[in-house]
Amino acid sequence: MTKVSPGRAVQPDTRPTPGPRRFGTLQLRAVDTGSCNGCEMEIAQAFGPVYDAAQYGVRLVASPRHADGLLVTGTPTLNMRQPLERVRDAVPRPALVIACGDCALGRGPYAEAYAVTGPVSEHLTVHAEICGCPPHPDDIVRVLREISGR
Ligand code: SF4
Repeated sequence: MTKVSPGRAVQPDTRPTPGPRRFGTLQLRAVDTGSCNGCEMEIAQAFGPVYDAAQYGVRLVASPRHADGLLVTGTPTLNMRQPLERVRDAVPRPALVIACGDCALGRGPYAEAYAVTGPVSEHLTVHAEICGCPPHPDDIVRVLREISGR
């Protein structure tokens, strides 16, 4: 189902799509656009000692200026549209965007809520998707490994 976004939409991302990564680390800035924190808990597990995504060359970083891309969770809400646009613009180009969790994909329990502006793909060019509500850490690590190539 196509959702109509109330008000001004985030400017479309016209930057080039990143190619597959062959070396180095993949550094991601996590962005919560309005989640229930379930996805964040699973991301924390994915980077914890059991699933250990860092061993595959993937790291979470605090600054978007140090990131190769964004790991976006939650339903982009009205309040988060502009912050999402700003953080995207702060990532050096080309920037990778990963939509993590059913909410970010336009599904999930909040999809019909009044303040939800649609899936992440309605605002940014999404290069990878991770399904689930919440996604299992195994699935998060699998997708990150596909991107990092390790
Ligand atoms: S996908 Fe599920 S766990 Fe993740 S933010 Fe949405 S409701 Fe929460």
